Amino acid sequence: MDKSKLHPDTLALHGGFRSDPATNAVAVPIYQTTSYQFDNAEHASNLFALKELGNIYTRIMNPTNDVLEQRLAAMEGGVAGLAVASGQAASTFAILNLCEAGDNFVTSTDLYGGTWNLFANTFKQMGIEARFADPADPESFRKLTDDKTRCYYAETLPNPKLEVFPIKEVADIGLSIGVPLIVDNTAAPLICRPIEHGAAIVVYSTTKYIGGHGTSIGGVIIDSGAFDWEAHQDRFPLLSRPDPSYHGAVWIEAVKPLGPIAYILRARVTLLRDVGAAMSPMNAFQFIQGVETLPLRIRKHCENASTVANYLKAHDQVTQVIYPGLMDGEARKRADTYLADHQYGGLVGFELSGGVDAGRKFIDSLELLYHVANIGDARSLAIHPASTTHSQLSAEDQAASGVTPGYVRLSIGIEHADDILADIEQALSKV
Ligand code: PLP
Repeated sequence: MDKSKLHPDTLALHGGFRSDPATNAVAVPIYQTTSYQFDNAEHASNLFALKELGNIYTRIMNPTNDVLEQRLAAMEGGVAGLAVASGQAASTFAILNLCEAGDNFVTSTDLYGGTWNLFANTFKQMGIEARFADPADPESFRKLTDDKTRCYYAETLPNPKLEVFPIKEVADIGLSIGVPLIVDNTAAPLICRPIEHGAAIVVYSTTKYIGGHGTSIGGVIIDSGAFDWEAHQDRFPLLSRPDPSYHGAVWIEAVKPLGPIAYILRARVTLLRDVGAAMSPMNAFQFIQGVETLPLRIRKHCENASTVANYLKAHDQVTQVIYPGLMDGEARKRADTYLADHQYGGLVGFELSGGVDAGRKFIDSLELLYHVANIGDARSLAIHPASTTHSQLSAEDQAASGVTPGYVRLSIGIEHADDILADIEQALSKV
């Protein structure tokens, strides 16, 4: 069967797997093994030389992880995926696969805080410069680009601002000068497919909506297979220069017989091999369970979030609601361009007129919604960024990141909307 014609909703159940080749099991087995016996000496040396693809050691590949990788890549319209230990590991590898000391990349300012720290501090220690560009002005990416710029980076639906990133506008600038765009699509799985808009690489924290159950930390990198590394090889020495860590392999040459997977294969057989941030097969199994119901869940998240946003808009203690479907102007245009069918995601921000104290009181009064530093769980979640995730920032930096003292972030779950509203209402009544 040609699965390439199937819809993402169908691929969530059927991508990358029919039944277990060893047992005919229909559920994907958890291959809880560290290593795999080679057929013979020739087989072993072919695997190590990449003449043949196959299992060697679970730090680098695993059959359970492979199903998750193939499934998510198929759903996203990519050619191959790489599962890793966390969303942070995914963004780290996505960049380190192209950048070395002395290089730079241009990133949107609107980022998850952990990614911001990684880019601004840890990469800086490694001699890699993150150049921050204003996502509202796509041309700012071009202006910050030079010969040492290896990629662009952005989040589709970054919180707390929840302003959708101009994916095609920036991807097109990159394509015109040979710079690939990497998009973190964690907050918008299925409702946005960044590869369709020109992204070269997509990363996810599978910890969030892909899993949905809140049991496992993980991440994935998906290669579109569409970026022409060879045409711009001077920009990508890590792919076009002999690699001393792999007996002088030139990745864009060596991988050609295997398909357009030079980028993702290099990430697997060098970065994952060396750094070792592997996803455990048990977690890959959990994410496979999650992804099977993602199409249903994401619709319900979006529907409930829209109900909550509209309720909050009419509330007299709420001075502002931050939600893509309630924005206007350019931000709304981008939301409608990049998020399918007016599904604006499951995240809703709102500002309470009473500032910090009101934000804290609201959170402390919640009974159904969980107070956690997470998003994308099937349960509804809430946090007051000014006193938690953003508390280390100066008031100025908080404001620049979109966090005001009375800002509350909600990650709306799939409970009955009336129960979510009732809890928000009773908590607001105590503020
Ligand atoms: N990207 C986004 C948009 C996130 O929200 C997060 C985590 O909150 C991450 C990446 C990092 O993912 P993980 O916690 O799985 O490392």
